[in-house]
Amino acid sequence: MAHDLNTPRIMENTIAKGKIHVQTENIFPIIKKFLYSDHEIFLRELVANAVDASQKLKTLAAVGEFNGDIGRLLIEVDVNKDKKTITIKDRGIGMTSDEVIKYIAQIAISGAEEFVSKYKEKADSQIIGKFGLGFFSAFMVSKKVEIFSLSHKEGSKGVRWECDGNPEYIMEEVERSERGTEIVLHVAEDSEEFLEKSRIDDLLKKYCRFLPIEIKSGTTKNYPKEYLDKTWEEKQAIEKEGKKPEMIEEDNIINNPHPAWIKKPSELKDEDYDKFYSELYPGSFDKPLFHIHINVDFPFNLTGILFFPKIGRTFEPNKEKIQLYCRQVFVTEAVENIVPDFLMLLRGVIDSPDIPLNVSRSYLQADGNVKKISAHITKKVADKLEELFKKDRAEFEKKWEDIKLFVHFGMVSDEKFLERAQKFALLKNTEGSFFTLEEYKEKIKATQTNNDKKIVHIYATNKDEQHSYIAAAKERGLDVLIFDTPIDSHLINTLERKFEDVSFVRVDGETADQLVKKEENKVSKLTEDEKNALRPVVEQSVEKDKFMVMFEDLSETDPPMLIIKPEFMRRMKDMQALSPGGQFGMMPEFYNLVVNVNNPLIGKIMNEKDAEKQKSLTKQAADLALLAQGLLKGQDLTNFVKRSVELIN
Ligand code: ADP
Repeated sequence: MAHDLNTPRIMENTIAKGKIHVQTENIFPIIKKFLYSDHEIFLRELVANAVDASQKLKTLAAVGEFNGDIGRLLIEVDVNKDKKTITIKDRGIGMTSDEVIKYIAQIAISGAEEFVSKYKEKADSQIIGKFGLGFFSAFMVSKKVEIFSLSHKEGSKGVRWECDGNPEYIMEEVERSERGTEIVLHVAEDSEEFLEKSRIDDLLKKYCRFLPIEIKSGTTKNYPKEYLDKTWEEKQAIEKEGKKPEMIEEDNIINNPHPAWIKKPSELKDEDYDKFYSELYPGSFDKPLFHIHINVDFPFNLTGILFFPKIGRTFEPNKEKIQLYCRQVFVTEAVENIVPDFLMLLRGVIDSPDIPLNVSRSYLQADGNVKKISAHITKKVADKLEELFKKDRAEFEKKWEDIKLFVHFGMVSDEKFLERAQKFALLKNTEGSFFTLEEYKEKIKATQTNNDKKIVHIYATNKDEQHSYIAAAKERGLDVLIFDTPIDSHLINTLERKFEDVSFVRVDGETADQLVKKEENKVSKLTEDEKNALRPVVEQSVEKDKFMVMFEDLSETDPPMLIIKPEFMRRMKDMQALSPGGQFGMMPEFYNLVVNVNNPLIGKIMNEKDAEKQKSLTKQAADLALLAQGLLKGQDLTNFVKRSVELIN
């Protein structure tokens, strides 16, 4: 005899039947199929409910509505492979039969909602939020679910509820002495993977590692703590005496109910943060460079700790990611949209009850709270970097190599961050000195402003390969920066766009054109006629379709010939390298071959009457330029060496 839930008839010691109030008869297959793509989260939902019920009891005790003995609010998860059951047991507030009907059967009514509205001030941050259909996710893995419960309310009777996945359920009164709720899942054939204890333990570690109530999964055997705390030598001595203690069985507690991020920053030392880091990422050897403790309660709730990792050779960006929690329940590592892109390489934890869960990504993108949270994280990170910079610049400079990737990425991809980063972003020159953008402009303004009133920043991407160019620039009293990460070409574009008075040029680039007041340039030692006469000779010395010959008035001490990649070509190439889709197509190699008309060797070549000798000298100068750029290889290189020997002789 099925009852409608509005008229449940529960009589003492009789079985009552009822019907779950749902719009469609067959809601369970729908739950099973569509509710969550990850069936494993049933465990998260049920343990979260158990935590919730335990927290509620604490709150009731705090406001004087529960006067009994709270005891240890342990949550136990048990797997019974023979009976094919998983049991989740808590010592929380429990439910009366009326409440089971109300909260479990009438899924539209959320107990948490009612509870929160009643105890708002005292309780709200303690209660795990709504997780969609919560309890009913049990049916994703079960063919039958039983609830045993005894309410904390005085005089309550035990209740058993059973449902096999149809809207009809059975409920009866049972003997029960323990306060709290026990959910027994009779696992369906297609979900038997969850009957492996190791699988359940893994899931508990994944989702429940930092839940605020202790969670026990079976027991482990271990030596007594007094023994474990002894030194190796002491243990040896004890063993020799034959007094090694027996192992004792203890609860296998899965979680740390008091993770660092829920504590106040003032309660924590640097060591505590490091300890939390290794707790979060076991097996990670490097200590983080520094941390950012986030603690906001208006206009949204957000706590968390972000770490700047040391990017060493073992850095694995996909392994140790930022984890998102909702009131200490693990939600996901997919924090795109919540954490700004350029901080995705950071590590740590973000906890917010205000981030909608179990919703699609496009929804997340549009969600106002999520956008605000992302902006706030950006601001916190910038503030922290500025603080570190101001507090101890020397220390900041030491860490710069490790953090510059994040900072540069942020400057390129986030206008607001770019704005803030001006206070702490550093430029490093070939001497190893650091400057802020402003400091550097001041430093080079007098010597490196070009005719267009732009302050020309000269940079090298490889100190060794571009050594001769760097040396030449220095000789002219110019300063050279080091820009050696893949993102730098983007950074340069960003800086040139942002600061109109700044331009960048690579040390082996078109320096002469861009740099320094023209009046400083020496008068060319070749006439136009002479240049026209020399051009075909030079053109013969290199591959014609790869090089364009240009004559420049460089200083006498500059090399006779230089290979430069036109700046725009280089940038296009860099872009091409960064876009695997090849949207720039294959760019041909193309260089300028610059002839320094002021170099004595060029004068010598010009005046050489012997055509063969002139050709040979020209080839030598061109090869030297190629060599400096690492472009001289194979047979050409061999020929060059041979020719060098001949010329010396
Ligand atoms: P939510 O937790 O989002 O409210 P659920 O479907 O998970 O939704 O649970 C519905 C209600 O059932 C809860 O609000 C709570 O009142 C009750 N409930 C579920 N599990 C327990 C439990 N272990 N102990 C006490 N009450 C519970």
